[in-house]
Amino acid sequence: MPGPLRTDGIVLRSIRYGEADRILHLYTPDHGRISAIAKGARRARSRFGARLEPFFGVSLVLHQGRSDLMTVTSVDTVSANGGLREHAATLDAAARACDAVARLFETADPHPEVFALLANELALLSADPANAHAGNGLAFRLKLLLAAGIVPQLAACAVCGEGQHLSGFSGAAGGVVCGSCEAGAFMLDEEAYRFLVGALGASLAQAPDGGGRALRQVERAISETAEHHAHVRLRPLLAA
Ligand SMILES: [Zn+2]
Repeated sequence: MPGPLRTDGIVLRSIRYGEADRILHLYTPDHGRISAIAKGARRARSRFGARLEPFFGVSLVLHQGRSDLMTVTSVDTVSANGGLREHAATLDAAARACDAVARLFETADPHPEVFALLANELALLSADPANAHAGNGLAFRLKLLLAAGIVPQLAACAVCGEGQHLSGFSGAAGGVVCGSCEAGAFMLDEEAYRFLVGALGASLAQAPDGGGRALRQVERAISETAEHHAHVRLRPLLAA
């Protein structure tokens, strides 16, 4: 019999289940994405209190039964991230961040850097609503692609290796492409290119922002990369 599992986790989703229970999707540093049931969590006097709402960073003890679904036996709050619940923009950004993690990292493979990145993003959104800008959301997704091992190639043409005249982006090719290899690519402005390079080089707190046209190109580059190389459709971030 496996013993109890002690782990940190971030609540990605919290789903009502049965009369009084909740099913949780959690992202953990060493066990990837896990699902667990919190029995009686919706009762007024539940010992879990409100600690099992989305975006909470928690420390958990889980009981591993015979099914895939673990059972929560105790929960402590590590970070409530309460500030992000005060604004629609930060709530929305936090929901999209958790959704992107859930879609790109849906297995039990350990990615402690993804856990740290998500914890950092939620803390930033909670600390200051100004952090809920489009550049931050796109930089977060780019860093997820990096963690997933599918970050777009930016230094040279992804098809022929040419280092100059990089004018397009191709999700299928896996990065920027030169003028001679543009078939199937879309045009990438200089500003969008600078954003991709800058966002990968900067911390999340220093994520660049940019004009609408450039950011839409960046989003398209990220979405096509996720679709081609991880077979994942990310929820749209920017209005078309
Ligand atoms: Zn080329």
